[in-house]
Amino acid sequence: MTSPVTSSAGVPWLVRKHHQFRSLSFAAVLVAVALHLWGKPVHWGLWVYLLAQLLVYPQVLLAWVRRAPDPIARELQHLVVDAYSLGLCAAVLGLPTWITFSMAMASMFNSAFNKGWRGTLSASCAFALGMLTWWVTGKLQWQPDTDWPATLFCMLGLMVYVLSIGDVAHIRIGQLRRARQAREAGARALEQANDVLRRQLDEINRLQEQLREQAHRDPLTGQYNRRYLDATLQRELLRCAREGHPLSLLMVDIDHFKAINDTHGHPVGDEVLRQMGLILATHARSHDVVCRYGGEEFLLMLPQLPLPQALLRAEQLRRAVSGHTFLTDAGEVAVTLSVGVACYPDHGHTVDELLRNTDHALYQAKREGRNRIIQSTPT
Ligand code: GH3
Ligand code: MG
Ligand code: MG
Repeated sequence: MTSPVTSSAGVPWLVRKHHQFRSLSFAAVLVAVALHLWGKPVHWGLWVYLLAQLLVYPQVLLAWVRRAPDPIARELQHLVVDAYSLGLCAAVLGLPTWITFSMAMASMFNSAFNKGWRGTLSASCAFALGMLTWWVTGKLQWQPDTDWPATLFCMLGLMVYVLSIGDVAHIRIGQLRRARQAREAGARALEQANDVLRRQLDEINRLQEQLREQAHRDPLTGQYNRRYLDATLQRELLRCAREGHPLSLLMVDIDHFKAINDTHGHPVGDEVLRQMGLILATHARSHDVVCRYGGEEFLLMLPQLPLPQALLRAEQLRRAVSGHTFLTDAGEVAVTLSVGVACYPDHGHTVDELLRNTDHALYQAKREGRNRIIQSTPT
């Protein structure tokens, strides 16, 4: 199947159509001229010229145009050559009215169809130039009369020519409409595919975010895990140091947690850990970090909180926990806390120093009888 734009031989649609029109219309002009000259004494050289111009020229032109790097551009340039050669032909024949009119109309109409008013103008000028060329040689003989057979043929030919161009325009408009519909359908399909992709991307981003969040969370309590704390603590400490803020750490450890496990079972111990995480989180500010540090130990990172407030917070937590009823499958469980507190810059300048001192303070709280808060000793 041939494409509407190029044929199997690679000749563009427009060049092919022009060639068909040129070959047929020039042949029709030859018939009109033959009818016009019928029975008149004519030099054989005129016939040679007419055959060359009206039969051979369109074929030579096609061979010339198809070899061009841009055949369509060259084809359009040749419309002016058509007009010139028909003008010359009309003059050579003595400007018979109907033949001249038909040739002028055909060449102007063709140029107008392809190039608009600019084409009409250039074709008119070229046609006039063709006539002028013969006039300059001094051989122009004014013989406007056209016999009725030639006149009738010209009228019919002109009519068929104009209607054929209308038909080509109709076919072309149909092709363009179908191409536009196909393009719009393609654009719609692309838009829908884009929507699906966008939704899938959103879902991937959401899942990624969820995964990231899960990677930072302790599965039992839902609080941050140690990995997250390791990634955050150093950064927060540097920021507080840079901005001249304190940073407090609270190491929270459940007292005699092993006994809870031993008495009520591991699942009850798990439930206590979960509820403990929630209590700690409810007392946290948005930028505090509550982290499950180890088995039944939680570490609270409290940026920009000075020591007195950190001690106050620790005391609030201790009271909240000792006053809380831990409802479990084994009934109510009583829980107390020991808390070690250290604060940057009072109790250390590095993460290691601060953690070590928080841990020492916690250890001391345990030694002193548990259910209490102990602050680290200043370095
Ligand atoms: P202390 O007052 O000195 O802190 O005594 P303790 O019993 O709380 O501390 P110890 O270190 O002796 O025991 C901690 C227990 O916590 C031991 C371990 O089995 C338990 N544990 C650690 N992780 C979990 C957990 O995820 N779930 C449960 N149910 N128990 C845990
Ligand atoms: Mg404990
Ligand atoms: Mg412990």
